[in-house]
Amino acid sequence: MIMYASRITSLPPYLFAAIDKAKQEVIKKGADVINLSIGDPDLPTPPHIVEAMKRSVSNPERHRYPSYEGMLAFRTAVAAWIKKTMKVDLNPEDEVLTLIGSKEGIAHIPLAFLNPGEVSLVPDPAYPVYNIGTILADGKPHKMPLLAENDFLPDLDAIPARVAEKAKIMFINYPNNPTSATASIKFFEEVVDFANENDVLVVHDNAYSEMTYDGYKAPSFLSVNGAKEIGVEMHSLSKTYNMTGWRIGYAIGNRDILSGLGKVKTNVDSGAFEAVQEAGIAALYGPQDCVREMNGVYKERRDALLAGLKELGFEVKPPKATFYVWTRVKGSSLDFSRMLLEKAGIVATPGVGFGEYGEGYIRFALTQPVDRINEAVERMRKLGI
Ligand SMILES: *Cc1c(COP(=O)(O)O)cnc(C)c1O
Repeated sequence: MIMYASRITSLPPYLFAAIDKAKQEVIKKGADVINLSIGDPDLPTPPHIVEAMKRSVSNPERHRYPSYEGMLAFRTAVAAWIKKTMKVDLNPEDEVLTLIGSKEGIAHIPLAFLNPGEVSLVPDPAYPVYNIGTILADGKPHKMPLLAENDFLPDLDAIPARVAEKAKIMFINYPNNPTSATASIKFFEEVVDFANENDVLVVHDNAYSEMTYDGYKAPSFLSVNGAKEIGVEMHSLSKTYNMTGWRIGYAIGNRDILSGLGKVKTNVDSGAFEAVQEAGIAALYGPQDCVREMNGVYKERRDALLAGLKELGFEVKPPKATFYVWTRVKGSSLDFSRMLLEKAGIVATPGVGFGEYGEGYIRFALTQPVDRINEAVERMRKLGI
């Protein structure tokens, strides 16, 4: 008899696997499914990045084990890119750590800082990995509700003193998945104050920093005074350069926090393939028009979906960032998404899958062309939604 450890059996089911199964069943019946559920860009990696990879992969020097902290050339490219886009100074030697995708860093960081039973502060609704990484480290997640009335920012004053006292890590994520909310510098300053008062280290997930619209620029958490003393920021090339499959990201900020994460990584992985890091260097130093063009595509899709949803009577505000539209629905989000799938062949993510405070919402990802988005709206109209 195979017995799983309780840290595995206590994990919530991975939402996207369940949705995929339901979707496959509908496809099997021959339906034309419009998938607006997964946050994976449908556009290809820009050609100059692919070319850099092709060159690098033929170089035998790249075939060996990489160093665990990443190539200095990659970390130097990161520091230059961060300086240029976010005006933050970093020492590439010890304030940048290469990751095998930012998910890897997020999942591993609790192992370096949580003793069993210690608390991490986790937003809800959220990307599931903050919660799951905590559970895998035998830590205790404490949920910080992200509510519409607080513009989907956690209410730091609502965190009970006894919880704050025990907390070791706080996870935040702006621009936010799934709510597409953004955070102000003032909010980041409040987080730094909270971290100092309660001896908490902060992990800011900035995976969507470049996916912005209407002139909005997403700040780095590290641009706030004192942030680098208590925090790190996770970055990813996945969404910025359509590189989800390549598995490349990085963590920047406090050198002691990065060193703790690095210690875990040295012992569980052996770094990111150097050819992928060289492709990353090409992405970071290369022309950034591809990012602007991509945002133009998402903006057109966003506007199509918003116009459609508005006509159907949904409450929606145009998101300034991310490729998600987060909107309130009547009744249970799971029932609503099941109905969309079975009656209209539309896959969207029920808010409850991101946590209990996501209930009553649904998330549409803008990862289909405009004509498919319009088709989805048309199907909803016919359904009388
Ligand atoms: C997509 C996403 C990531 C990126 O993950 P990678 O492992 O870098 O591909 C991280 N955080 C959030 C919130 C995301 O949505």
